[in-house]
Parts: sequence; structure tokens; C-alpha cells
Amino acid sequence: MNDQTVQIFLADESATLELGRRIAQIVEPGLLIALHGDLGAGKTTLARGVLRGLGYDGRVKSPTYTLVELYELSRLHLYHFDFYRFNDPRELGDAGFREAFNGNAVCIVEWPERAVDILPAPDLDIRLIEERGGRKVLLAATTEKGKHCLARLPS
Ligand code: ADP
Ligand code: MG
Repeated sequence: MNDQTVQIFLADESATLELGRRIAQIVEPGLLIALHGDLGAGKTTLARGVLRGLGYDGRVKSPTYTLVELYELSRLHLYHFDFYRFNDPRELGDAGFREAFNGNAVCIVEWPERAVDILPAPDLDIRLIEERGGRKVLLAATTEKGKHCLARLPS
């Protein structure tokens, strides 16, 4: 493990939400966050924490069926993708997809491995793994932008 990888243990759901709130403090326009982990690992919970941290109090729906949910927040726009059921790039509707990755919005992507052919390279790779009733999470910066953000993660 190199110094750009951070490992944290999250004992319960509230710890996952809290990590999301901390991540909300470091996101910036154009940041692409890839969320890895099995079904039920806590990816959507983490995304919900980020949205809470950005001041969004409404319902955070899993985009499993819609593919993407857009949150137009005062500070920035956030696209939450879930590619679990994704199999045809034509489902995406070109314009919206390009807008998501034009560098002005934050993108959080569940199941990025199912859309590798069309996704830009992520800045942060986050992996959630079930462990001892909680979750182990590995945060890795994969670009300079990602390193810059991760270095500022509040403890
Ligand atoms: P995913 O999007 O990866 O499929 P979800 O975010 O929907 O997973 O979460 C699945 C379940 O995991 C939820 O019931 C949530 O409460 C639970 N969960 C989230 N974080 C933790 C944690 N750190 N420890 C135990 N359970 C957790
Ligand atoms: Mg999910």
C-alpha cells in the first residue's frame, strides 16, 4: 500500500455516513469518485453521506434503475451513477452523459467496472469490503487531482 491509500474501519452505517460527510469537505468540480464493492457493501450509503455533507436533506435514491440521479446543489452539481444494470451505452443519452464529465460537476459512480469503456479515469478509487459486521474502506488517489483532495481529508 502506498502513501496515497488511506484505510479506515467503519463499524456501522452511521460511520459510513460520517465518512461521506468528510469526503464532502474535499470534493471539487470535476472530481470523479469510483465506488467499488459488492451489493450491500455500503456504496449508496456513502454517496448519501456525501450529499448530506453538501447540505442536501432530501431523499437519496439508489440510481440502480434510473442509471443516474442529478443533484443541483448550491455549491456544485453532483451526478450519482449506478452502472449495475448497465449494458447498452445508448441508454445513456449522449448530451447528459457528456455534461456529467465536462469538468464542472462531481461524479460518484457505483459499479464503474461495468462501464470502463465509456468512463473517464477516476480521481479517487474507494473500495468497501464487509468485515467483522462493519466495513473496511480503502481510499486511493489515482490522479494528481485525487491526491490533492485526499490529502485534505479531515480526520
Ligand atoms: P450498496 O450501494 O453498496 O449496494 P448500500 O449502501 O445500499 O449498499 O448499503 C447496504 C447496507 O449496508 C445498508 O443496510 C446499510 O445500512 C449497511 N451499511 C452501510 N455501512 C455499513 C457499515 N459500516 N457497517 C455495517 N452496515 C453498513
Ligand atoms: Mg448501491
